[in-house]
Amino acid sequence: MSPAQICGFIAAEGHFSQSGTKFKLVIGLAAEDEKSVDAIARSLAVGTRHRYPARRFGTQEQVTWQVQALPELVQVIVPLCDAYLLPCHKRDQYTVWRSALFAHLESRHRTWFHGPRICSVESCDELVRAKGLCRRHYHIATGR
Ligand SMILES: [Zn+2]
Repeated sequence: MSPAQICGFIAAEGHFSQSGTKFKLVIGLAAEDEKSVDAIARSLAVGTRHRYPARRFGTQEQVTWQVQALPELVQVIVPLCDAYLLPCHKRDQYTVWRSALFAHLESRHRTWFHGPRICSVESCDELVRAKGLCRRHYHIATGR
């Protein structure tokens, strides 16, 4: 399935949600469309599939595909939606969700998101231990 086709499904059936510090993209379809869910999951190689029984008499079983691992959201879902999600109401929801996701990464996963920080002493490229300094320069600066 092409990226544009997948974003068509996201625009029609996708749901971007945030609950506290959990971020999620879910696509839910009737079980008869299970092949589409499988194709999306296979094409992107991220996320998990679930199958739910019908909630009421006369309704269908539901198949969902959801992505909530932060690396999968940041490295796969965000680039995909940035490039292929067309301007529409879902794109507006995505934009708000994306801002919240990146604010969360800034505040809680800074090292993973930006990579480890390097000692602030010029010409030193050791990893930071504390206060922007490596172990050696921290010791020189504080005597500890
Ligand atoms: Zn240093």
